Amino acid sequence: MTHDTPTHVVDPAETLAGYEVWFLTGSQGLYGEETLRQVEEQSKAVHETLAPHVPVKLVWKPVLKDADGIRRALIEASADDKVIGVTTWMHTFSPAKMWIGGLQALTKPLLHLHTQANVALPWGDIDFDFMNLNQAAHGDREFGYALARLGVRHATAVGHVSDERVVARIQNWTRAAAGAAAVRELKLTRFGDNMRYVAVTEGDKTEAEIELGVQVNTWAVNELAAAVDAAAADTAAVDALVATYERDYDVDPSLRSDGGDRHAALRDGAAIELGLRALLAQNGSAAFTTNFEDLGTLKQLPGLAVQRLMADGYGFGAEGDWKTAVLVRAMNVAGAGLPGGASLMEDYTYDLTPGAEKILGAHMLEVSPTLTTTTPTLEIHPLGIGGKDDPVRLVFTADAGEAVVVALSDTRDGFRLTANVVDVVPPTEALPNLPVGRAVWEPRPSFPVAAEAWLTAGAAHHTVMTTAVGLQVVEDFATMVGTEFLVIDEHTTARGFRDELRLQQTWHRLDRGF
Ligand code: MN
Repeated sequence: MTHDTPTHVVDPAETLAGYEVWFLTGSQGLYGEETLRQVEEQSKAVHETLAPHVPVKLVWKPVLKDADGIRRALIEASADDKVIGVTTWMHTFSPAKMWIGGLQALTKPLLHLHTQANVALPWGDIDFDFMNLNQAAHGDREFGYALARLGVRHATAVGHVSDERVVARIQNWTRAAAGAAAVRELKLTRFGDNMRYVAVTEGDKTEAEIELGVQVNTWAVNELAAAVDAAAADTAAVDALVATYERDYDVDPSLRSDGGDRHAALRDGAAIELGLRALLAQNGSAAFTTNFEDLGTLKQLPGLAVQRLMADGYGFGAEGDWKTAVLVRAMNVAGAGLPGGASLMEDYTYDLTPGAEKILGAHMLEVSPTLTTTTPTLEIHPLGIGGKDDPVRLVFTADAGEAVVVALSDTRDGFRLTANVVDVVPPTEALPNLPVGRAVWEPRPSFPVAAEAWLTAGAAHHTVMTTAVGLQVVEDFATMVGTEFLVIDEHTTARGFRDELRLQQTWHRLDRGF
C-alpha cells in the first residue's frame, strides 16, 4: 500500500472544506426492525437539519447497534485523516458497555449530541411505543456514564437541532476540532532559533509533537535568503506582486512604481514575500517563525510579507516563538469564513488612567491586517532593531469589537493555554507617529484583575488575538489538545483565578501519571 504525500493546503477555507465530522447514532438490536427503521429515519432527518449549518462536511453513518460495529466505526474515524471528530447521539438506549472498545480506540475529538427527534411532546398521543422510540433522555445518560467512566475528553451539546444555541454550540466545537486537526498536521518552519536570553519562547518541541502533533523544525535563515535572491531575479513575478500591493493597499507615494524614490525597498519586500512562500511550500509548512537577531543576508526584517502570509492563513510567531505561531495557525483555520481574523499580538504598553486603563498592542511590524476592515496603508520607516534596511509594512488600527487573546506557555509538565476575553476599542487619540499595525483593548473583567491573573499564570507576552472566533472555540480546542486551560473573562476574580490555577496544575500533573 502506498500513501500519497498530503497536498500542501494553507488557505483556511480550503483546509476546512477538506475536513469531515462523522454523525453517529447509537441504538441496539433489541428494538426490532420496525423501531430501528424509525430510528434510522429520524437520525437522517436530524442530520439533514444540522448538516447545512456545520462548517465542515457532516457525514451520516448507519445506526450503531452492537459492540463490533461501534468499535469498527470509531477505528475507521480515527484512521481517516479527513475526519476531525465524531458526534454521538444515543437516539434510543444503547447499552454503554457496547461503546467501551470503540471509545478506547477513538483518537479524534468527540461531541456528545444530546438531542431528540421531536421538539414539543405530542402529549395527547403519547403511548409506550413513543416512549420507547424517543428515549435519548436516558440513552444519553447511559452513554455519558461511559464517557465519564473512561475519562474521554469531550464536549456536550444539549437541545433540539433547530435551536440556534445548539447549532452555535456544534459550530464552535467543529471549528475547534478543525483548529486542532490543523495543528496535528502542521509542519512548522523556524528560520533560526528563538531570541537570545528569552525564557517564554523556549520550550519542549518534542513534547509539543507528542501532545499537539505539530512538527517544529529549524532551517538556516540563509536558505530563506537564497530563496529571496532567486525570487528577486524573477522581475516579472516581483512586478505582479507590486501591482497587487498597489491594488489592495494605500501605498505611500515614495514606494510606488510610478517614480517613488524608495520603490526599490518595496521590490525587496516583494522578493521576501515570494521567497518565503516558495520555501514554505517546499517544506509543506503552514506556519513559521523569524528572529530579528538572525536575518542572514536578508535586506529587511520581514514585515509586509509576514503580515500578508498571516492574512492568508499561515501561523506566525516573532523572535522564534513557535508556540504562538501554532496558535495563529489554529485560530486562522478555526475562524475560516467568519468576519475578523487572527494575528500575532503583543501586549506592548499601557494607558493607566484609573478606571479607563487600556492596553496598546502591536509588534515591531508583524500584525495581520485581517484585524481591520479598513484599507491598510503600505509605508516605509526606519527600524533600529535588526540593523537592516528600513522595512516596508502595513499600517492600520484593529476594528473595535470583542476579541480573545490566547497564550501558550510551556510548564515543563506540558503546556498551559491562557485566554483573556477583551474588548478592542478605538484609540483614545490618533497615533500619527506609530507606523505599525496595532490594536487597543480593555481586558475583562477589568485591567487590574486581568493583568494580575495573566501574570500569575505566567502567560506569555506574545499571544494570538482572534476576532473571528470566541472563547468557546478556544476552550474546546484546549480540551481537545489536553493542555491546562485558564480563562480570564467577566467572571474572573483574582482569588478564584489563583485557586483555578492550582487546581489545573494539580490535575494535569496527576493526569499525566508517572
Ligand atoms: Mn515580540
